[in-house]
Amino acid sequence: MISKKNLIFLGAPGAGKGTGANGLLEREPLVHISTGDILRAEVKNGTELGKNAALLMEKGELVPDEIVAGMVKSRLGRHDCDNGFILDGFPRTIKQAELLEEVLKEINKEIDAVIYFDIEDDILLKRLTARISCKKCGRIYNKLFLPPKKENTCDDCNEDLFQRPDDSLETAKDRLEVFYESTQPLINYYRSKNILTSITEVERDDMVAALFKKLG
Ligand code: AMP
Repeated sequence: MISKKNLIFLGAPGAGKGTGANGLLEREPLVHISTGDILRAEVKNGTELGKNAALLMEKGELVPDEIVAGMVKSRLGRHDCDNGFILDGFPRTIKQAELLEEVLKEINKEIDAVIYFDIEDDILLKRLTARISCKKCGRIYNKLFLPPKKENTCDDCNEDLFQRPDDSLETAKDRLEVFYESTQPLINYYRSKNILTSITEVERDDMVAALFKKLG
């Protein structure tokens, strides 16, 4: 059992936020709120929001702060978040962090810990471009670091695996640039609030163990 349950996972694309979240969720009843997943679902469903977001996502650019914060607000307001939650990929700008604070105040909650996944660029690019995921259940694999048992097939549901279009080398590089420009300032933002802790482990098992240790 962990005592810190309202969490933000912060880190560049490919740093392992989703993998870390899935590892933690196997043992803790937290709600996983990935703004990337929510946006991809909007794109898949062809909603107006999805159509507008798709253009930005394809280029690796950020969706406007107010839109993403609105999505998070409606998700955080649901009662299943009372046992704790992982915000994965949100906030990504200082403005989003400020909007999040307003939302949390309204629903009387606060963030217990921000985990910064601190991984070097060359590893990030390698991981992003080798990342594949299941079309059906969304499980994430990596051709180099975390391959499925059978090539290109999900261990859980036997479905084909695919590469996200924004994980191509060119877009992955753009997304890293966006991270350094817009998201990196959040490290100092949360450090100054004394709730930031870093994780550098690469292996999934080590990472989950480290998370448990830090969230005590
Ligand atoms: P992710 O799966 O977290 O890497 O997100 C994929 C894409 O969705 C990003 O490259 C952005 O275009 C968009 N996105 C996800 N989360 C956010 C956010 N918090 N703010 C703005 N755009 C986001």
